[in-house]
Amino acid sequence: MLLIPCPHCGPRAQVEFAYGGDATVARPVDPDAVGARQWLDHVYLRENPKGPHLEWWQHVAGCRAWIRVRRDTVTHAVLGAATAAGSIEGGAS
Ligand SMILES: [Zn+2]
Repeated sequence: MLLIPCPHCGPRAQVEFAYGGDATVARPVDPDAVGARQWLDHVYLRENPKGPHLEWWQHVAGCRAWIRVRRDTVTHAVLGAATAAGSIEGGAS
């Protein structure tokens, strides 16, 4: 069973969480300065990384907070977790 260490609730089963996507994607700083193609890229196009990856997860069956989780996409091992604004030890935030 995959356990996700919620920073608010402690380790919980993955079934309590909803996946929220790539946590490395940044919204354009000036939304009016980008065109339709850049918005298409921002909203829909994602990398498919192999190895450690930073992801958004929401603890929907717990505190309902959005957290960032570093997970290895090959082994599915959870390498760390932090609040939305916090940093994850041992990896890039
Ligand atoms: Zn929680």
